[in-house]
Amino acid sequence: MNLVLMGLPGAGKGTQAERIVAKYSIPHISTGDMFRAAISEGTELGMQAKSFMDKGELVPDEVTIGIVRERLSKPDCDKGFLLDGFPRTVPQAEALENILSELKKKINYVINIEVDQDILMERLTGRRICKNCGATYHLVFNPPAEAGTCDRCGGELYQRADDNEETVQNRLEVNVKQTQPLLDFYQEKGYLKNINGQQHIDEVFSDIDALLRDPVK
Ligand SMILES: [Zn+2]
Repeated sequence: MNLVLMGLPGAGKGTQAERIVAKYSIPHISTGDMFRAAISEGTELGMQAKSFMDKGELVPDEVTIGIVRERLSKPDCDKGFLLDGFPRTVPQAEALENILSELKKKINYVINIEVDQDILMERLTGRRICKNCGATYHLVFNPPAEAGTCDRCGGELYQRADDNEETVQNRLEVNVKQTQPLLDFYQEKGYLKNINGQQHIDEVFSDIDALLRDPVK
């Protein structure tokens, strides 16, 4: 069960990742966790990654790929893994193919959670936070009883700068541009499975689960 999980911000990737790894007992390998672990273990690649991160620079592909290779070689990946946040580019996807073939493994599925951009906009711009106590609300999914006012303490609700329409729109556009070539790459390889992310969380998971229960080719 070797999986790659993809989806735009707001598509519900985090929630589905948690459910997949819980049900199938495979490690959830996110880029952030992988870097943190390599750094805390003090591996050579971890130290290299840290030196770039400390300077505020992007970690170069060769270092990232080396860290992925080390992580996928660990025994807990023997019965599978769920990669999340890697690969991000076609060269990284090609490097992953090489790593897996060295390890005599292959990807079974690339699960792409699909949600229309206007729905993502609604999900991502609807968050409101209480200025006073920090409680979070969502205009659609978890609205306060009285608009603009915290249920808990009566404080004023505000929208974080990161959540405003223009910022979110930009973030989505950058992501779409970046992931499309990757989706094409995996489509061509026959790994890509699109899942409708515009359903209830339970239904999204049940679609993923149905796919994973299928005998793997
Ligand atoms: Zn409050």
